Amino acid sequence: MEEARKYLIVNKTTIKYDNKLFTFLDGMKKKFMCDLDFLGNQEHAKIVYPLMHEYIKGKVYGLNHVISYNPHKHRKPNNYAIFIALCSEYRKYKDWEELAENIINVTIHFDENEEVLDPGGQTAMTCCCSHSIVYCFNIHLKDTGMKLIAGDTCILKNLLVNEDVVAKVKQLKKSAQKLARLKKTHRMCGDCQEWNIKLDEPYWKKRCISCWRIWKSTQRSDIN
Ligand SMILES: [Zn+2]
Ligand SMILES: [Zn+2]
Repeated sequence: MEEARKYLIVNKTTIKYDNKLFTFLDGMKKKFMCDLDFLGNQEHAKIVYPLMHEYIKGKVYGLNHVISYNPHKHRKPNNYAIFIALCSEYRKYKDWEELAENIINVTIHFDENEEVLDPGGQTAMTCCCSHSIVYCFNIHLKDTGMKLIAGDTCILKNLLVNEDVVAKVKQLKKSAQKLARLKKTHRMCGDCQEWNIKLDEPYWKKRCISCWRIWKSTQRSDIN
């Protein structure tokens, strides 16, 4: 009973979870063989995701659907579901619900400068569903150890998700937003690397108050 309530059912894909899908995924895996290990990498994803979306676009009509496929409505949720399946051992599961339990973790993606992506920034990142995103999450898949890139809304609205994952997405997004806000009004302390020096403090102040106190006390003990 407890276990059953851990998952929220929000499956929006129209594709039937059957052998036709598996054969399609086999072909897709072969076609993008060299890219599969890098699907969680931003730079790689920028190049290869559009090619993968094109590949899906050409073949999605040949799959079995539970309701008639409408590209305006179903393209993104179907892309998302296909990416999750592609990065999982799809034949091991009996349906989408079971497959979705393979999503075990989410982490937020930092760029090289450890900067959280800025809302409205110039990152031009897209989710594996093809939606453009601000917060770049990595989805971790349990059975293959593979990673994907997705936006927070897509993780919360597609397939079915573990409640722990939902909670983590919300918490990570909150701290990312907080940091982005802080960076607009503060600069980083050279000692503790926290963003706690107000921008209107004189430019020569490189330490926050608590680091300055620590520094001061070491200076004093040097003299004695
Ligand atoms: Zn998405
Ligand atoms: Zn400090």
